[in-house]
Amino acid sequence: MKFHKVAATSVFLSPHSFGRETQSIEYREDPLTGARCRINVRRAERLKETSAKADFSQVVGKPDECPFCPENVEQATPLFPAELCAEGRIRSGDCCFFPNLYPLAEYHATGTLTSRHFLELDQFEPYMLVDNLTATREYLARVSHHAQEVGYPIYLWNHLPPSAASMFHPHVQVLVDRKPTPYQDRLLQCSRDYFSRYGRCFWCDVVEEEKRRGERYIGEHNSVAVIAPFAPQGNREALIIFRGSSNLMGLRPEEASDFADCVVRLLRAYDRMGINSFNLCTFSARLGEEVPYYCLHAKLISRPVFQPFYRNDTGILERFHYEADIETPPEDTARKLKAFFEAG
Ligand SMILES: [Zn+2]
Repeated sequence: MKFHKVAATSVFLSPHSFGRETQSIEYREDPLTGARCRINVRRAERLKETSAKADFSQVVGKPDECPFCPENVEQATPLFPAELCAEGRIRSGDCCFFPNLYPLAEYHATGTLTSRHFLELDQFEPYMLVDNLTATREYLARVSHHAQEVGYPIYLWNHLPPSAASMFHPHVQVLVDRKPTPYQDRLLQCSRDYFSRYGRCFWCDVVEEEKRRGERYIGEHNSVAVIAPFAPQGNREALIIFRGSSNLMGLRPEEASDFADCVVRLLRAYDRMGINSFNLCTFSARLGEEVPYYCLHAKLISRPVFQPFYRNDTGILERFHYEADIETPPEDTARKLKAFFEAG
C-alpha cells in the first residue's frame, strides 16, 4: 500500500525582526482515491483552540423554545406520511425520528440523540448512539420497503454551529438517495478496482497496514477499527471502519454497540483536547448490499471551537478545489486519540 507524500517549503521574512523563516508544507495523497490534502502544522498557531471552555449559556437557547425537546416534539416536528410510517414518528429509547422540515433528499429524516437539550462532548453515552442507530435502521428498512429505487444512505451528525448545525439539541440526519454522491461513487469504484487488482478488500488491508506501521493506528473494539487516515479531509480526523458490514442497513446490533463505544471514546478525547464542535458521517454501499470489496465506514472531524468570534475552517481549497487544508498531522491525531482506547 502506497502512502505518497511530497514535501515543499515556503520562505518569507518574518515580522517583526524580518529574519528568514521557512515553513514546511506536505502534500499527501489518499492511498485509495488519490484525493489530496496539504498539511502545515504551523497553521494551528493561528487559533487558540485549547482555550478555556466556552460559556454556552447565552447562546444555547431555552429548552422551552426548542422543537426537539420532549415537551415540544409532538407539536413542533413533522410526521412521516402513513404509507411510510403509520405511527408518524419512529422512537427508540430517548431518540425520536421525524421528517426533516427542509429536506435535501427524497427521504430525509432528523433524529434526536437524547431528550436533553444540550450535552458537552464528554456527556454522550454509548446507549444514546445505539438507540439512535436502532431508529436509523428502522427508518432505512421502511424506506427501502416503500421505495426500492432509493438506496444510498448517509447518516450524519453535525454538532454546534461551526459544524453547520442549526440546532443545539443533539441530533443526526439520515438521507437516502437514488444515486450515491460523486465522492461515495468514487469510494465504491476505487474499492472495486483495488479488489480486482489485489483480490483483497482495501478497508481490511488499510487497518492491517496501519496496525503494522503503528503511527496512525488508534484502536479497535471488536467489529470496529479506528485509524487516523494518512491524507485526512479534516482536522483530527478519525476513520471508523466496520470490518463485517458494507451497508448501513445491514449493521448488526453488536456492530452498532461497538461503533457507539468508539464514538463516545473519540468524543471524550476531543473534549479533553478542548474541541466542542464536530462532524460525523457514514459512507455506505447500497442498502441491503453486502459486497466483499467494501466496508461501511464513518469519519469524524473536529471543527473550530464554538466561542464568540470563532473562525470557519473551510475555505477556497475545500469549497472549490476539493483539497483539504490541514493543520493536525494524522500521526499526532492518532497519538492523542489512542490513549482513550487503551484505557479499557
Ligand atoms: Zn432541545
